[in-house]
Parts: sequence; structure tokens; C-alpha cells
Amino acid sequence: MTRSRVLVLATVAILIAAFFALHLERYVTLDALKAQHTEIAAYRDAHPWIAAAAYFILYIVVTGLSLPGAAVLTLVGGAMFGLVWGTVIVSFASSIGATLAFLAARFLFRDAVQSRFRKRLKVIDAGIEKEGAFYLFTLRLVPLFPFFLINLVMGLTALPARTFYWVSQLGMLAGTIVYVNAGSELSKIESVSGILSPGLIVSFALLGIFPLLARKALEWVKSRQAHARWPKPGRFERNLIVIGAGSAGLVAAYIAAAVKAKVTLVEKHKMGGDCLHTGCIPSKALIRTARLLSHIKRAKEFGLREATAQFDFAEIMERVQRVIRTVEPHDSTERYTGLGVECLAGEARIISPYKVEIKTAESVKTITTRAIVIAAGARPFIPPIPGIEQVGYCTSDTVWSLRELPKRLLVLGGGPIGSELAQCFARFGATVTQVEMLPHILSREDPDISEMVAQRFRREGIHVCTGCTAKHFLIDNGEKVLIAERDGNELRIPFDLLLCAVGRVANTGGYGLEELGIGTTKSGTVETDDYLQTLYPNIYACGDVAGPYQFTHVAAHQAWYAAVNALFGCVWKFRADYSVIPWATFTDPEVARVGLNESEAKEKKIAWEVTRYAIADLDRAITDEEAHGVVKVLTVPGKDRILGATIVGEHAGDLIAEFVGAMKHGIGLNKILGTIHTYPTRAEANRYVAGEWKRAHAPRRLLRLVQRYHAWQLG
Ligand SMILES: Cc1cc2nc3c(=O)[nH]c(=O)nc-3n(C[C@H](O)[C@H](O)[C@H](O)COP(=O)(O)OP(=O)(O)OC[C@H]3O[C@@H](n4cnc5c(N)ncnc54)[C@H](O)[C@@H]3O)c2cc1C
Repeated sequence: MTRSRVLVLATVAILIAAFFALHLERYVTLDALKAQHTEIAAYRDAHPWIAAAAYFILYIVVTGLSLPGAAVLTLVGGAMFGLVWGTVIVSFASSIGATLAFLAARFLFRDAVQSRFRKRLKVIDAGIEKEGAFYLFTLRLVPLFPFFLINLVMGLTALPARTFYWVSQLGMLAGTIVYVNAGSELSKIESVSGILSPGLIVSFALLGIFPLLARKALEWVKSRQAHARWPKPGRFERNLIVIGAGSAGLVAAYIAAAVKAKVTLVEKHKMGGDCLHTGCIPSKALIRTARLLSHIKRAKEFGLREATAQFDFAEIMERVQRVIRTVEPHDSTERYTGLGVECLAGEARIISPYKVEIKTAESVKTITTRAIVIAAGARPFIPPIPGIEQVGYCTSDTVWSLRELPKRLLVLGGGPIGSELAQCFARFGATVTQVEMLPHILSREDPDISEMVAQRFRREGIHVCTGCTAKHFLIDNGEKVLIAERDGNELRIPFDLLLCAVGRVANTGGYGLEELGIGTTKSGTVETDDYLQTLYPNIYACGDVAGPYQFTHVAAHQAWYAAVNALFGCVWKFRADYSVIPWATFTDPEVARVGLNESEAKEKKIAWEVTRYAIADLDRAITDEEAHGVVKVLTVPGKDRILGATIVGEHAGDLIAEFVGAMKHGIGLNKILGTIHTYPTRAEANRYVAGEWKRAHAPRRLLRLVQRYHAWQLG
């Protein structure tokens, strides 16, 4: 615990101890109040302002320190100042006192509670973030919940102090009026607990849960309205229909079959979707060959006098197809049929929340279903830059059919897809220019991280043009040209082939969403709630079509929630958990991340500390001639709790797994440091970064003492 925390805790403890040691509680009983009523009234008449100010401060102190007696003090307010002024004074004093107690609990205990119960708190905080004001309002309105307990417990959650203050003031108002009013007629009160009749408590309770009920009712009405115009079949032919057999759809269908649901998976193009045919698999296969070539070019570094490679680009692209064919059985109709999924090759269209029309090569049929999972994926976004259609382009969908290496490749986009492909083509011998509007490529990463990749790109001959906006394309004397702007200057970039990689848009059109009124978000993905449920409670969406992350592992992760909620949502629904999402960009050097980086921590105003370990020092990296890169870990200041980690270097995508596991299971850097890592491996870098953190947090005073002890031992 920090010194300031110890100081605050000691002050609070002393004040509370003094209160009880001096038996001050005897002054805040109903009998004491009744006995001193005349003196109190006389003092108030003689010094109204001083009386009001003293009462106000006393009330804040009592509630701020969570001392007993708030109810009696409220009665005093009524007795001293009457209903109107009593209510005004008590309302502000109690809200301020409550907020002080709330802040004290947060300052003293939140970090400790967070580090012990982080996982559980995360769920609570997510609920608080969404409906915290409602919860608090309910708790405040129902006087059965102890006032001081609410202050302290809420302080441990993520509820903003401002929200806590105004909701408390509003929520406590009704109760305050009841108590102050009772105080203004003090002689009639027999006991404090008697002020609230059971009827009054029930009324408050109903009032408290009203906003929550109203919201739930609104959701129910909305879903009823949405369903109203669609007749519900008496019997369903399927439990679940999954639209799209990409990473998301395959997992959703597999889970449904595993729990013995009757499930149909519809795919209009190829089983396996983007990842298998145009995404992860072909790109990683291409990267492998490009990497081998780069090693051959670096032969001297490995002690070889000379090494050359003869290759034909078309054969490399054929190898990519061979790899796809090798992986294909994993996602095949045969495999999934064997697992209990009915696989249909055809185009699905949702014609009602309960019916899906499937157009196959042979027929068009309609199947009734209890639930639907939309997993229709995404496609490359083509920006409306004048002249783009005229010059023509390829995308991550079509680049795989190239069999001739372009001489000059223009890559539009500095994201992961553009960067991975730009480096591959450059390594095969194309002259590559990469144009990115933002100041850095891989702009999601911290600038120092993306700069490491950009520097490598430049060394390999890629012309990385950042802060550069594509204005228009033209064909000049038969040559394709991009006119771009950078720092107010016009750039003219001639090229032979344009690869457009400026992002991906969700596939939301043409299969019934518009007709059903299922909306889309600002980023164009299907609108879903935290449970991946659309406007219709029986229709879910997952994967690239739902966002917000467009990765295969996230698609699969979401698919579990979508399938389970679609099949068992009437009993229990699970909120999709995005707390620990890793990703990697497979450039050379690789970049992998989980959790926060510095830019995000700054943006979210989260306090952090950063520890770096330069991979240049790692024995294994040196033996492999890959002594470059960094492990960068963000932790809670003064603690070993990991907020995020970024790794740049060989196999960063694999190395990040240790931090993913650590974050998921609340393991800190101390434990990583205490774990044996095989020597000599890249994974040791993770342990060394933990060592760097430990060195920076070594107990200096203790070490000085130990040093003296050793000096003394020397004699
Ligand atoms: C070049 C590239 C490299 C990538 N590299 C990686 C990587 O290294 N790691 C990673 O995690 N991610 C990577 N990704 C992203 C990854 O490929 C996607 O996140 C993932 O494929 C999304 O899966 P999905 O199931 O949501 O969509 P998809 O795989 O696109 O599947 C959707 C399927 O739905 C079908 N469909 C659509 N509408 C209908 C309809 N009406 N009826 C029937 N079928 C329909 C489509 O034909 C498609 O097959 C990469 C992507 C690209 C483009």
C-alpha cells in the first residue's frame, strides 16, 4: 500500500475509533434527540446560519466516515430546519458525504480488490458501465439497503464519481423527504425503524426497479414488434441455420452439432471462407516463401559465401494453392457432415426471423428454424478515388490468381494486409510503393513499434509513403499513375498493378437484413448487443460481419457465444468477452499485441508503466542472426499486473501467447519471472522483460541493508 493510502486509512481509522471511544454514538439516538430537541431549536433560532453550516459539516463527516447515525441526523435536519430547508440541506450533505465515502473506498481498496478479483470485477464493471446508474438508483430508492454499504461497495466498481453523486442525490431524495418530514414532527415518532411502513418500503422498491423494468419492457416490446409481422411456424425444421461457412460459421455449426441440435450450414462460395481461401492461409504460405528468399539474399550473414534462388512467381502462387488444398479438408463438407452438420452449397436469404430461403444449384427451398446465426463475413473495401476503376486493381480476394509478378506494385493501405503483401512482393523482386494516409503504417500499434517495421521495409527497398493521401488515378501515355498529396505537395507515383488494401466492409446486403430491419453500425457491421443478438432475439451475428475485430480467432470466439446463446438463450445468455484479444501482423519483423499499448492507455486515461526488453540482447536471437525487436509490456504503476504487451521480432505471434495466458488468468510479471523458460529460446525474452520490471522495482532500502550485512560478514 502506498504512503498516501496508509495515511488516509490511518486518519479514517483514528476518527472512527475516536467516535466509538468517546461514546459519541449516544448523541445520535432518537431518545437523545428528543431529549435535546428544545436546546437544539433554541440554538437554531439564535444562530440560524451557524447552526445550518455546523449541521451540514457534521452530516458530511458522519456519512463520509460511514459512522452510524445518519438516519437520526436526518430527523434532526427535519426538526431543526423544517421540511423544505431540512430536505435541501440533508440532500446535499448526504450526497457529498456519500461521495466522499465512495471516493475513500475507491482510493483505499479498489486496486487491491481489482488485483484479487479482477476477472469477476470485469464482469461487474461491464454491467456498471452499461446500467450502473440504474442499479444505483434502485439501491438508493430502496431504503432497505444500508446507505454506507452502498457507498463503499460502489467505490470498488468502475462507476464514475460524477454519476455516483447525481444518481445518489436523485435516488435518495424520496427517502430524505420521508425522514426529514418525520423529523419535523419529532414528537410523533416512536422509533427510527417505524418511520418506514412496509407499504412505503414496497412503494420505494417498485419505484426503484421501475427504470430497469421499463428498459426490459421496452426491449421486449421492441422484439415483439419486430416479430409481430412474421407468423411463427407451429413446428420448426431446424434448431439453427448458420449463414456462411467461414471461420465463424464453421465453429457455430460445429458447436450446435456437438450439443445435438439440428443445424444447417449454408455456404454460397467455398467452405472455409476468407481465412482458408483468400486470407490467413494463402498469405502465410506466401510469406513463408518470401521469407526463405530473404534468407537466401542474406546468405553471407549466415556464413555462406553465396546462395541464389531460381524461381518462377507462378510456381510460388501454385504452391499457395497447394497449401490451401492441403488445409481444405479441415473445413470440408465431408468433415462437417461427419460431425453432424447438414451442409448446403447455396445462397441463403432470411425471409422471416423463422425462415431461411436457400437457393442451391438444383432448387430453391425454405427451411423453418428456431434460430439463425449470421456469419456472412466481410469483403475488401474499394475507396471511391476518382479513376480507380479506370486503372483497375486487385484486392486480397483476387491477388491469389496472379501468375505474373508485377514490375511496379502500388499498395494502397498500410494496415496488416497491405503490409504483409507489400513485403512479400518486394521480396519476390517487385518495386513496391506503399501509400498510407496516416503518419504510420500499422497505425493501430504504437509509433515506435510501427516505425521498426517501416525501417525494415525501407531497408528492403519498399518505398513507404506515409502521411500520403491518394487523390486520383489516371492513365498517362499508357502508364498507370497515382496522383497523391503529401505535406501539401503533389506526388506522382507510376505503377503497373494496384493492390487495394484499405480495409474491409461487412457483407450485410442482399440476404434479407434490410427487409427485416436489422440495422448496421457506423462501421457498417451488423448491429448486435453484448450477446451478439440482433434486433430479433433469435437472430445472432458473429465474425467479420459483426466486428469489431476482424480476425479468425475472434470469429471463432464469437461463434461460441452466438451458437450457445442462439440455442440456450431462453435459459441463460452469455455476454461476449473481449477482455483479452491478441493479434499479430506477420510482416518481418512480426508484430504481436494483446491488451493495451501506450497510445490506447493515453487515450483511455489509464495510468501505466512501460518496461522494455531489447531482443538484440537475446542469445537465441543472436545465434539466429535475428537480433532485433523488442518486448514492451505495460503494467499498472507500482504493480506487476499486465495491462498489455507488444512484441516485435521473429515469432512474435507465438511469443505473445504467454502474455495472453497471463492476462486471461491474472498472472503478473513476477510469476512469469519465476517460471523456467527453456534455454536458448525466443520465449526467454518474455522472462527477461519481467526481469527488467523486477530490477526497476527492486526494494532499494532492503538491498542497502543486505549490502551492509554482506560487508559486515566480510569481517
Ligand atoms: C489477406 C488476409 C489475411 C488475413 N490474415 C489473418 C491472420 O493472419 N490472422 C487472423 O486471425 N485473421 C486474418 N485475416 C482475417 C480473417 O481471414 C477473417 O477475420 C476471418 O476469415 C473471418 O471469418 P468469418 O467467418 O467472419 O468470415 P468469412 O471467412 O468471410 O466467411 C463468410 C462466408 O459467408 C459466406 N456467405 C456470405 N453471404 C452468404 C449467404 N447469403 N449465403 C451463404 N453464404 C454466404 C461467404 O461466401 C463466406 O464464405 C486475414 C484476412 C485477409 C483478407
